[in-house]
Amino acid sequence: MKHLYDVIIVGAGLAGLRAAVEIGKDAKVAVLTKVFATRSHSGAAQGGIGAALGNEEEDHCEWHMFDTVKGSDYLGDQDAIEILANDAPRAIYELENLGVPFNRTPEGKIAQRAFGGHTRKFGEAPVKRACYAATRTGRVILDTLWEQSLRRGIEFFDEFQMLSLIVEEGQCCGVVAYELSTGKLHVFQSKAVLMATGGAGKIYKTTSNAFASTGDGMAMAYRAGAPLEDMEFVQFHPTGIYKLGILISEAARGEGGILLNNEGERFMERYAPVIKDLAPRDMISRCMLEEMRAGRGIDGKDYFHLDLTHLGEEVIDKKLAEITSFARTYAGVDPIKEPIPVQPTCHYMMGGIATDADGRVIVDEKNTAYAGLYAAGECACVSVHGANRLGCNALLDTLVFGRRAGIAIKAFVPSAGRPKLPARPETKDADTIKALMNSSGKESSGPIRAELQESMMENVSVFRQKDSLNTALKKITQLKKRYQHLAIQDKGSCFNRDLLDAIELGHLLDLAEVITRSAINREESRGAHSREDFPQRDDQKFLVHTMARYDAVKGPQIFTKPVTITQFEPKERKY
Ligand SMILES: Cc1cc2nc3c(=O)[nH]c(=O)nc-3n(C[C@H](O)[C@H](O)[C@H](O)COP(=O)(O)OP(=O)(O)OC[C@H]3O[C@@H](n4cnc5c(N)ncnc54)[C@H](O)[C@@H]3O)c2cc1C
Repeated sequence: MKHLYDVIIVGAGLAGLRAAVEIGKDAKVAVLTKVFATRSHSGAAQGGIGAALGNEEEDHCEWHMFDTVKGSDYLGDQDAIEILANDAPRAIYELENLGVPFNRTPEGKIAQRAFGGHTRKFGEAPVKRACYAATRTGRVILDTLWEQSLRRGIEFFDEFQMLSLIVEEGQCCGVVAYELSTGKLHVFQSKAVLMATGGAGKIYKTTSNAFASTGDGMAMAYRAGAPLEDMEFVQFHPTGIYKLGILISEAARGEGGILLNNEGERFMERYAPVIKDLAPRDMISRCMLEEMRAGRGIDGKDYFHLDLTHLGEEVIDKKLAEITSFARTYAGVDPIKEPIPVQPTCHYMMGGIATDADGRVIVDEKNTAYAGLYAAGECACVSVHGANRLGCNALLDTLVFGRRAGIAIKAFVPSAGRPKLPARPETKDADTIKALMNSSGKESSGPIRAELQESMMENVSVFRQKDSLNTALKKITQLKKRYQHLAIQDKGSCFNRDLLDAIELGHLLDLAEVITRSAINREESRGAHSREDFPQRDDQKFLVHTMARYDAVKGPQIFTKPVTITQFEPKERKY
């Protein structure tokens, strides 16, 4: 089946929806999403969204910019970070006007709370910068933007899974998608495609991410020639529920929660004397692993206690409601009376499809645009997060750069031509599906995925070194070979999860390879990339972005791109 639009947006999380709202009725827009729109992972965001409103105490966009640059371990592009920080207050008031029910201060202003790495006066002490709606911030923003999209006549194709980009004459001019309920392939022709497909936490065994976070958009853009940027930087959030990885938001520490080791010691006081438990995530995750190695994990095991008991029932129930229910349901503990067992969990991809600050996908270090292709949100790398993202900056990134991509697309569409499509652009995907369905191979996706996730968790997580990275790369190569012998048990065409799991596994394998190769290449420690064999940051050699280009035969081809530094020269990063 064929469809004709001006713009296809793939992904109905905050990035996709914010772009859709921006384009509105100015072009014919369709949003494709593999899960029902409001089930996108953005809806799980708990803690908040950062903006220097100064509603609770003095704050400035420049401080927000500085914290983000320092948090990124000086790898973020400062021109883009400036846009992020300066546009944040506008983005929040816009959400308020669209109907987002933020928590309020007693005098009726938007309430704000502390979050990791957000400080006043360039690092003096924590500042209250996170705007929030209890611990359901992402949920209320997602629902609001979805309603606003419907109001503007945006068409939704829910439960349509994109399989590939259509590229003709060097221009991206549509996508091929699989309809989950029928198994039919659809061709969507358009002048512009926006990838807003979210993260890829499912590469790792322990993750806070949704089942749908399999990095499809990154992998598909990569295979279509768009380079991936800074993929070695994978964020581990310090407080996932022990063994499950389900997130206990940083809001818990923002409201005063503390981390304790086996000796009942608030160990972060030793590592970050100024901001303690509100140090950035890369640092706390590393400290937890160091405590563990020193035998100070709880009962000598690989977890710690997040203690909220001193906050009192009212704060916990009112400001941290979801967290309380998660702790009760999944960890079997009541956070009002007892601490929550936590350990680092894979949370966020700092890297992604390389773009400029207007969402245009770029193909080289000179920022040459990939005609017709845009990306925004977690699947993109602008880069505002550099080597480590601060809490509350991801939601902000989706809104600020989702909107800017929308504006750029609106300007592009009227003058853009429509290259003639080949007769059957879906042939390649149809053949791949047919081959998988008819395969007599002995492999299935479950075991391959589990082995991949385990190897990445073991070898390419918080601490890395040459040997462990090479072990992971060898494993990925073996798994890719086994993937060639995959067979599908379910021969049906209605919600065939077996088939979709197999397709998604292909993405996980490609991205794991890029992450590992990029990590091998970066022989220094910076932000979330901590090499035990190269413990120092090396600005001489590595103050550059890693770019990885697809090569079907040789694997990822690495090149670099300069970092943009405007106001803040790299300094030692102390908290
Ligand atoms: C548990 C949790 C809590 C978080 N809390 C916070 C927080 O408090 N503050 C903060 O700033 N950040 C937070 N983050 C990070 C932030 O929520 C995400 O980075 C952000 O919401 C990503 O938005 P997105 O629009 O890029 O993608 P997502 O919201 O992940 O949406 C991806 C969309 O792409 C679609 N899609 C994917 N692949 C395909 C395909 N092949 N075909 C069709 N559609 C596809 C999906 O269906 C979905 O609609 C949190 C993340 C998690 C996991």
